[in-house]
Amino acid sequence: PTGPAVVGRFAPTPSGPLHFGSLLAALASWLDARARDGRWLLRIEDIDPPRCPAGTDATIIAQLATFGLEHDGEIRYQSRCEGRYRDTLTRLADAGLAYPCSCSRRQWRDYRVYPGWCRSGVSEPGRDCAWRLRTDCGDDIVSWHDRRLGLQHWSLATLGDVILRRRDGLWAYQLAVVADDFEQGITDVVRGADLLDNTAWQILLQRSLGWPTPHYLHLPLAVADNGQKLSKQNLATALPTDDTAARALLFEALTLLAQPALSAATPIREQLDAALAGWRPDALPAGPLSHHGG
Ligand code: GLU
Repeated sequence: PTGPAVVGRFAPTPSGPLHFGSLLAALASWLDARARDGRWLLRIEDIDPPRCPAGTDATIIAQLATFGLEHDGEIRYQSRCEGRYRDTLTRLADAGLAYPCSCSRRQWRDYRVYPGWCRSGVSEPGRDCAWRLRTDCGDDIVSWHDRRLGLQHWSLATLGDVILRRRDGLWAYQLAVVADDFEQGITDVVRGADLLDNTAWQILLQRSLGWPTPHYLHLPLAVADNGQKLSKQNLATALPTDDTAARALLFEALTLLAQPALSAATPIREQLDAALAGWRPDALPAGPLSHHGG
């Protein structure tokens, strides 16, 4: 008998096309789910519309298709899940774990994290209020086991009362990602190590809501030849949608992840099949992973 069915996901923010760093996350998460006959879901994290140019979702979908990374079921768009985020925040507020906050960044600029002045209920919810998560209601340390990095201990006092809903009414990443990972039954989150520090808040949220915590695996970061992190902000090159270029990049990605890699000319499907047959999460390297070509 095998364990419970695996459900993985890829959850890009459509603020720009996927780049090589996104390919590593999508590929590793896809392999991790598919190698165990699991499902793999695609979620477009478009909760911040001004940051997401129209049509970027279509570009992302085409890029994933070029690399043979097929998802199961319907694509979820976070911009259509408002009601569920609202219910989640209501539950937290009713339990006294979320509070409205009217402080501006300027007021607490001398502190490293928000000092929690509005915890005592001094701000009326309403216009011009953000909502924050209380991180002072239980243990100060959140611990979990990361599948690559091992035991993690993160201090909540150091992380601070994170925003769940922004002053301008937009939902924050932490709340949306936890609500969706739960609702979609995600068992295994595989993503870049740049998101590691978010995990403590996400686990605190799951525990506060009585929801299960998925397994987490944070991948080594991809950096450009100059050592800079690959990101949309520093304009990493978009993944190609032509097959020849994709074969070479897939080969490079598998090689960097220390997984079975055939050749830069091997068709996508054959490369993926070999990687699936030999998927070894425990072989993932320490990183950073240096990508040639930015
Ligand atoms: N939407 C996030 C991003 O693109 C990833 C969220 C996640 O994998 O938890 O950086």
